[in-house]
Amino acid sequence: MHIIDSHIHCGIQNVSQPFEDIEPLLDSAGIDGACLYAPVEDIYYRYSSNFDDNKKWRKCRADAHDYLLKIGRRNDQIYPYYFVWNDFAVEDLEKEFFGIKWHHHEGEPPYNYTNPKCTEMIDAICARNLPIVLEETFSRTFKFVEQVAGRTPVIIPHLGLLNGGFDRLLNAGIWNDDNIYGDTALAGKYEISSFLDQYGPDRIIFGSDYPFGMPGSQLDQIKNMGIAEKDLEKICGKNILKLLKIS
Ligand SMILES: [Zn+2]
Repeated sequence: MHIIDSHIHCGIQNVSQPFEDIEPLLDSAGIDGACLYAPVEDIYYRYSSNFDDNKKWRKCRADAHDYLLKIGRRNDQIYPYYFVWNDFAVEDLEKEFFGIKWHHHEGEPPYNYTNPKCTEMIDAICARNLPIVLEETFSRTFKFVEQVAGRTPVIIPHLGLLNGGFDRLLNAGIWNDDNIYGDTALAGKYEISSFLDQYGPDRIIFGSDYPFGMPGSQLDQIKNMGIAEKDLEKICGKNILKLLKIS
């Protein structure tokens, strides 16, 4: 089975999560590749909702992305993602990114959705058909999905744990949309089996959320759920590779 961990934070500036620490964890778990995101800590100051961007932070973001791109160039099963922030630097999408990370929790600096550049950024992402890993508040998740309107896949991490909760998204019908995927990072067996029962194996994607979850144990949880081998193949690798357009 070809296994990809679709949710790994990797960076070496404001946190220490170097790829040298991650690679042996993937190897020992039999994981062939990974999608890498910069840690939130290297994108903006997350511990206050008031954040003043400056030259130092812009350099930090650029360096965080360059680090991932460098790893991606050395390893053809490493897929760097671009972490969008309020500078909405559309030109960055021309680099070798395979997907998009979009992250905001209550109490953290919010995205400036009223800036026309934000709409431009979302349109540019959709035009490139890049999958977006969207972690946002419940109401923003809704509006975001509406704005994307089926133009590109949206992956809700943790099966919604931090987007208002799995059940809340379920009751609101958000998982009914064929364009919406969920990743399994730190989700429980209840959420994973509920999703599988209702929607089947085509829109659920394995991820660990390293360093918050360990690739090996997050993978073991799914492998130990008694899921049919052909469904497991989709969840652990085929689904994400399809979104990344890797055959
Ligand atoms: Zn994460």
